[in-house]
Amino acid sequence: MKKPLLERLKEGPLLGDGAMGTQLMIAGLEQGGCGEEWNLRHPEKVLAIQKRYADAGSDCILTNTFGGSRIMLNRHGNADDVVPINRAAVEVVKQAFASAGRDGYVIGDVGPFGGLMEPYGDFTEQQVRDAFTEQAKALVDAGADAIIIETQTSLEELGIGIEAAKEAGAACIIGSMAYDVTLDGSTFRTMMGIDPERAAEFMAQQGAHVVALNCGTRMDMTRAREAIERYKRATDLPVMAQPNAGQPKLVNMKVVYDETPAEMVKGVVPLLEAGTNIVGACCGSTPDHIAAFRKAMDEYLKN
Ligand SMILES: [Zn+2]
Repeated sequence: MKKPLLERLKEGPLLGDGAMGTQLMIAGLEQGGCGEEWNLRHPEKVLAIQKRYADAGSDCILTNTFGGSRIMLNRHGNADDVVPINRAAVEVVKQAFASAGRDGYVIGDVGPFGGLMEPYGDFTEQQVRDAFTEQAKALVDAGADAIIIETQTSLEELGIGIEAAKEAGAACIIGSMAYDVTLDGSTFRTMMGIDPERAAEFMAQQGAHVVALNCGTRMDMTRAREAIERYKRATDLPVMAQPNAGQPKLVNMKVVYDETPAEMVKGVVPLLEAGTNIVGACCGSTPDHIAAFRKAMDEYLKN
């Protein structure tokens, strides 16, 4: 029997996974296409990616549901398939672990709803709340071990996501912020001006269980460690980091992330030394990055 994720985290750090979006593009998803639809139409392609992460040593894999809320799916005419798409995504992660012959945690992924709420935008708070609750419920009902509300920049939307995950009965709720390094390079905060201390305090108050960061702009492994240190000064909750594989560059009109596994892995031990409970990676990272992370992590844990 697998221990609940929060219990397991007390025993030592876990390895997350790498990017899904950029991997789907490599597998043929068109720019602007609906990657979540593949959970139903091409589950074998999603499985192939997630099996590579499981084979590389991921202990936790995020479902392919970043844009799996009703509001996001509606942009692709898939609003009728919210529940099947999210349910299928959990199944695919379970299959990835099973076919790799290892046990692991299914993290149900809830990304931003992709718009602005009134009075700045067209969406009511209730619409966002309903969309997140519906998605989180589909993920939890299908057997997700945790829900991550990720790439968040505002506390308002994050708070709605945390409440939705609670409402869905999630055993573990992870709140994950996307920070941008300021132009002068002195610090980082989200697009909406939230700094790590404020985010950590807010998440603790709202009842999240893990305080995380992912993606962002110029947030490399070193910056991720800084964010973890700042989180840990503000909260006793477990912490998680998923930085991008370097900075996006435009090559032949395509967005490329070019930090190699060998470069990125140098940041793994510093993250573990800072007390990071789950180390993963975001945009541009690959199963090769995760395999390198696994090796570094196992070496570190042996000593
Ligand atoms: Zn990312």
